[in-house]
Amino acid sequence: MKTTMKAAVLKGLETIVMEEVPVPEPKSGQVLVQVKASALCGSDLAGYSGHHSMIKWPVILGHEASGIIAKCGPGVDNWKEDDLVVIEPLFTCRKCQACLSGKYNLCADLKFAGHQVNGSLAEYVIAESRFIHRKPENVSFEEAALTEPASSPLHAVERCGIRLGDFVVIIGCGVTGFFTMQYVLSKGAEVLITDPAEFKLKIAEELGATYTLNPEKVNLEERVKALTGGMGAGCVIEAVGISETLASTVSLVKRGGTIMLIGYSEKESESFDLSTVTLAELTVLGSLAYCNDFPAVLKLMSMGKVKIKPIISHRLPLERVEEGIQMMKREEEGLLKIVISYD
Ligand SMILES: [Zn+2]
Ligand SMILES: [Zn+2]
Repeated sequence: MKTTMKAAVLKGLETIVMEEVPVPEPKSGQVLVQVKASALCGSDLAGYSGHHSMIKWPVILGHEASGIIAKCGPGVDNWKEDDLVVIEPLFTCRKCQACLSGKYNLCADLKFAGHQVNGSLAEYVIAESRFIHRKPENVSFEEAALTEPASSPLHAVERCGIRLGDFVVIIGCGVTGFFTMQYVLSKGAEVLITDPAEFKLKIAEELGATYTLNPEKVNLEERVKALTGGMGAGCVIEAVGISETLASTVSLVKRGGTIMLIGYSEKESESFDLSTVTLAELTVLGSLAYCNDFPAVLKLMSMGKVKIKPIISHRLPLERVEEGIQMMKREEEGLLKIVISYD
């Protein structure tokens, strides 16, 4: 086996350097995975721009990956070399109250690959053996790499308590919004999804949106009221994370309804009408990452119940990671998910 590997190392503010670094050694309970596909994420851009509290350079970015087991560390007996896997990129303490209660996504010492630990934008990456999952045969490495960004929306949707026939508003047609929409639709609810980018609304239609709306052209609150007999939506899912859209959720939801905040930005969001939360007895929920959600997502992918291909807009080789992040920074037209492929 090789002893060094190519890696895209975030070295400083807006500086990624391709370096030849030592192949890491899996410790007890860990595996070394040869990366076959690794996707770029908004949090990579945030880290690159110095706006992510968990990403400190120098670090190899990347937390959305699939690959082949290259080596098992001591004590790993349920996996073997050449197994095809999807990585749940977490490292947890296994000792805190959250870990002991099974809610490992709330671990007091939660670490992500590509954030506090070296990630998958390299030829090899380390993963915890208890956080890897077998890649279904009929799911490509590229699609499988999107299990991670598809899992946070599943975790969030499962927390919303959506029921057959509900009317749900999703704000934002990013990757998160698109996965969220597909899960909500599969729960038998109607979805109105919004975004100011017309190309994204077209993809939303392809993915089965009941209604799409461009808030720069049509008044969202009036449209929601018109479609719900004046009541408002049973559930509003905010998948952008800016104060303007966060503030709007309260006026879109019906009395007794639910607001889910998956959108996240490092900036403080100051405007949220808490008196209406009380007076309309709203349920306001947050959602962090995923916890035991990867198996369901992989099953849905294997069954063809969640579409991935329309969400992948670009493919680049490892050497062009920085270029991909720059494309995200420029918010290039037509850009959704960039997958780094290794062949
Ligand atoms: Zn991500
Ligand atoms: Zn813990």
